[in-house]
Amino acid sequence: MNNFEEYCTQFVQSVGNREGAISPAVINSASFAYGTPEIGEGIFDGSVKKPLYSRVGNPTTAKLESILAEMDGGVGAIATSSGMAATTLATMSLLACGNEIISIGGLFGGTYALFNETLRRFGITTHFFDVEELENIKSTINENTKIIFLESVGNPNMRLPNIKAIATIANKAGIVLMVDNTITPLSISPLKLGADIVVYSTTKIITGNASALGGCAVFRAINDGDDKFKTDRYAEVHPFIKKVGKMALVPNAKKRVMRDFGMSANAHASYQTMLGLETLPLRMDRIVKSVETIAKELDRNGLNINHPCLKSHPHHTLYTTEFKNGCGTLLTIDMQTKEKAFAFLNKTKLAIITANIGDSRTLALHMASTIYSDFDDETKDFLGITDGLIRISIGLENPQDIISDFLQAAQ
Ligand code: PLP
Repeated sequence: MNNFEEYCTQFVQSVGNREGAISPAVINSASFAYGTPEIGEGIFDGSVKKPLYSRVGNPTTAKLESILAEMDGGVGAIATSSGMAATTLATMSLLACGNEIISIGGLFGGTYALFNETLRRFGITTHFFDVEELENIKSTINENTKIIFLESVGNPNMRLPNIKAIATIANKAGIVLMVDNTITPLSISPLKLGADIVVYSTTKIITGNASALGGCAVFRAINDGDDKFKTDRYAEVHPFIKKVGKMALVPNAKKRVMRDFGMSANAHASYQTMLGLETLPLRMDRIVKSVETIAKELDRNGLNINHPCLKSHPHHTLYTTEFKNGCGTLLTIDMQTKEKAFAFLNKTKLAIITANIGDSRTLALHMASTIYSDFDDETKDFLGITDGLIRISIGLENPQDIISDFLQAAQ
């Protein structure tokens, strides 16, 4: 384990300035003076590279975007007001009424509701599959399919997708593959595995301390020769390819969604997110090791733990081959009943009870009575939500302290 080293130099050197103020400048201005009408005209037609208005771009946020694009090997990125905003931005930039999404894996409740309820109201249909249903996924693709969406790790069902295999299906069929990599930044590089767009909630481990809500979408470059975005299926992107070539997906998302829906990141949140990025590789490294230690020790002590580092997990082999840098901060404990889960949560002295994940502190939440309380039994079953399920996000505490605390809480 551990390829986080390569990011240590990159992040601290790109967040800090080498001249003047070292900490990034926070440009807290909604609007920007153009000086002359000629410059204003040039800013609007793109020939002058100066800020236009913070809904469509802010200099502090632009710095964050360039670091996140480089992190994933993308050609560009757009930061947003939340992780849900990033998923909305990226999906809506490609979708129209009558289009279809194929969504794979255990899904964060907010994303499930976006696809199954909200986008449905606009005539967009989503087909949901487990990570292992590759044949059904292939046979569901049709002329209306625009996006195959997956979460790098099922939150909270902890099932692991074979991203390479799914990318092969998407690329053969000429369909966009979008990956929510919120749980595994740095550990998994979706664009290198064949995905086209990556989305993040930066609220989680990227910022890592509950100080800023945020999200980001990272886009790959359009290829010079053949490219799925040049086919009729993605005709809406063609004017942007004509205008800006390999950068096309960025203005496509900005002009077709950000400008009109306005889910822009604010400068202060972008600043907080950059401060988080500086220590992301160190925190990831420590937490993925702690998660394994804690999962194995609690399992040995008879708790019902779900994490793919355990040999009993159905995706243990995939974990050891494709998730060599771990799969993020999560594990789950199934206490069998709601009463036992509540008793555990009332007895833990370390875990903070909240709906967030990826924090410096260990966080815990009973799933069925909170995020998934509105969902019917069939959906909960599909998403792996049982009555006694507690989602844990491990923090930076001493793992032995967490083990001792959880063992006493489980008694
Ligand atoms: N994606 C995943 C995997 C998440 O866990 C979450 C939030 O919990 C989101 C997206 C949404 O992020 P945000 O709360 O920043 O909107």
